[in-house]
Amino acid sequence: MKVIMLGAPGAGKGTQAVRVAAAYQIPHISTGDIFRANIKGGTELGKKAKTFMDAGKLVPDELVCDLVVDRIQQDDCKNGYVLDGFPRTIPQAEALDAAVAAIGDKVDYAVDIDVPDEEIITRMSGRRACLSCGATYHTKFNPPKAEGVCDTCGAALVLRDDDKPETVRTRLNVYHEQTQPLIDYYNGKGILVTVDGTQNMDKVFSDIKEKLGE
Ligand code: ADP
Ligand code: AMP
Repeated sequence: MKVIMLGAPGAGKGTQAVRVAAAYQIPHISTGDIFRANIKGGTELGKKAKTFMDAGKLVPDELVCDLVVDRIQQDDCKNGYVLDGFPRTIPQAEALDAAVAAIGDKVDYAVDIDVPDEEIITRMSGRRACLSCGATYHTKFNPPKAEGVCDTCGAALVLRDDDKPETVRTRLNVYHEQTQPLIDYYNGKGILVTVDGTQNMDKVFSDIKEKLGE
């Protein structure tokens, strides 16, 4: 099963992608996590991406598309994958379609997690991220067992620089301008499913599973 998670920053794409990956036994591929790992590792890609990320802007398509196309050609992606944070622009969606069509295949579902902007601002200020293993928490809705410490790997949790309110507003504008058009794009292809992302995490996941079936 090949699934794309759509939705505004903070809508819950990562939270649900982890569950989808576990339920359908497919890899979870987050472009944001890939960039953060590159920033941490001090790579050239990380240095280039950081400027855009810190400003709340999108990393240019040419730095993202090849990276994802290479990743989905790896062996562990044979039975599918869940893409979290990609595509974010129409050219990215077209690059993905072309790569998938080249192997005679297609994306099965684009899941849009729908959350209004007002709720996004609240959610992002409470998000805490583990930059070691990519796990995500929320101070109120999904707290770690010990405050400030990742349940999975024990590393310190941080408030991402791009989750500060002023940057979140920029990211929401970028989302509406550049990423939201993907909803119509996938609707036109007949593979869009929409879930109400304001519900609790378990309910959002059960709605997704119901729509994906299998
Ligand atoms: P995204 O990957 O779309 O940016 P995340 O999955 O990181 O979003 O979720 C953003 C924040 O909101 C995190 O702190 C997460 O724990 C929290 N969150 C995710 N889904 C829900 C939900 N259904 N209800 C409340 N908080 C949620
Ligand atoms: P995320 O972890 O998905 O919230 O992504 C964090 C940041 O990484 C975004 O605000 C962008 O700057 C960058 N990014 C992640 N995925 C993409 C993408 N597909 N296209 C462009 N930029 C991206």
